[in-house]
Amino acid sequence: MGSRYSAWSLLRHGLTGGDWSRAFRHHPVKNSYDVVIIGGGVHGLAAAYYLAKNHGITNVAVLEKSYIGSGGSGRNTAILRSNYLTPEGIRFYDRSVKLYEHLAADLNFNVMFSQRGHLTLAHNDSSLRTMAWRAEVNKLQGVDSSVIGPDEISKLVPYLDTSAHTRYPILGALYHPPGGIIRHDAVVWGYARAADALGVHIHQNTELVGIDVEANRVVGVRTAGGDRISTPIVLNCTAGWSTLISDLAGVSMPVQTFPLQAAVTEPVKPFLDTVVVSGTLHTYVSQTDRGELVFGASVDPFASYSTRGSLEFVEGLAGHVLELMPALSKMRLLRQWAGLCDMTPDYSPIMGPTPVEGFHVDVGWGTYGFKAGPVSGEAMADCIAGGRPPEIISAFGLDRFEAGRLVGEKGAAAVGH
Ligand SMILES: Cc1cc2nc3c(=O)[nH]c(=O)nc-3n(C[C@H](O)[C@H](O)[C@H](O)COP(=O)(O)OP(=O)(O)OC[C@H]3O[C@@H](n4cnc5c(N)ncnc54)[C@H](O)[C@@H]3O)c2cc1C
Repeated sequence: MGSRYSAWSLLRHGLTGGDWSRAFRHHPVKNSYDVVIIGGGVHGLAAAYYLAKNHGITNVAVLEKSYIGSGGSGRNTAILRSNYLTPEGIRFYDRSVKLYEHLAADLNFNVMFSQRGHLTLAHNDSSLRTMAWRAEVNKLQGVDSSVIGPDEISKLVPYLDTSAHTRYPILGALYHPPGGIIRHDAVVWGYARAADALGVHIHQNTELVGIDVEANRVVGVRTAGGDRISTPIVLNCTAGWSTLISDLAGVSMPVQTFPLQAAVTEPVKPFLDTVVVSGTLHTYVSQTDRGELVFGASVDPFASYSTRGSLEFVEGLAGHVLELMPALSKMRLLRQWAGLCDMTPDYSPIMGPTPVEGFHVDVGWGTYGFKAGPVSGEAMADCIAGGRPPEIISAFGLDRFEAGRLVGEKGAAAVGH
């Protein structure tokens, strides 16, 4: 950082506001935009950025009911990977990992992407079979993935109990070297700053309450603050709230919202430089640059809009983590939290146009949508600018549920976000 940002000057800046300029500007809401994006998470902001950058469409508003990143984008456990199960899914997520690899340079913002490798453990024969299946499909799509045995696993993660006498012995793992973790807030801020610089208006504390549709075509939106904005295009990027927004346009979607919880420990010295996931034990862990261990699980077993943590979650989590790494028994949890996940029946997203002209969706991100932010933004920008979905998202249309063309990703996306 150089001498300009010594510890004292950082403290002074923090206390006084200093001369740091705002990352993005405040604008009054205009009464007309070419595109209105609902939701200031990674998906909405990335779509705004790529509309402006790749297509020169800058008369764009992002409406966010709270602050940017207040939804899943600021609450996730920041795991990125592309070792999915279907060819459609693998190609899609791989494009996102590639965009993430260059994102810091593209946005001129340090997003702290650490490609430290990702392990999905198998504790029984059937999960070992699924890992082998995933590894083969991955290789066919050019994605680095292979099944490794307990000896290699213990070299990568010495703290894992790979002995044969545990309750859930580790028989092998799917190893995916390009996977890793990133700083989620930085991704959100980086996209917001870059979109703003290209002319996009980001409106925080601006809740959408109505979508006006005439003759089956979007004509405008209304906000809780009384703004009426005319626009021919609305893009729904509201994840856990997405059915509520689609209902406003009269579009019903096969999405249910479930809470997903996570927790973080006190910081300790670095000892874990791989992401470890166990689908069978419903848990996963990684270590941040600050030394904290970040844990997650599968979604709560009931649909809800609540973001409260539960004791049941931490109890189950602690038991399962100690099965995997008994040496962590003295670690203290610092805090836990929850976010909302918009689950689809096939664990794949819903992207593209809807039966209402001008109303587009980029939803159904479940527990795994942060990693898809860049590719989704790029693809939705192409879809809006080009008038039809680009090939990379053609399998994820809303009409697949009626046509029975599901893209089944449950085997790769249930716990392993
Ligand atoms: C605990 C947890 C762990 C996760 N871990 C991972 C992971 O490791 N890897 C991964 O890839 N994914 C993970 N996810 C999933 C990921 O966080 C989401 O899929 C992703 O962030 C969705 O991004 P988004 O931009 O679509 O939605 P969000 O970030 O949820 O943004 C939607 C925004 O819409 C706003 N909004 C809602 N209603 C309105 C309205 N009426 N008007 C205006 N604005 C509105 C909300 O305030 C919100 O900010 C996890 C999720 C959780 C909760």
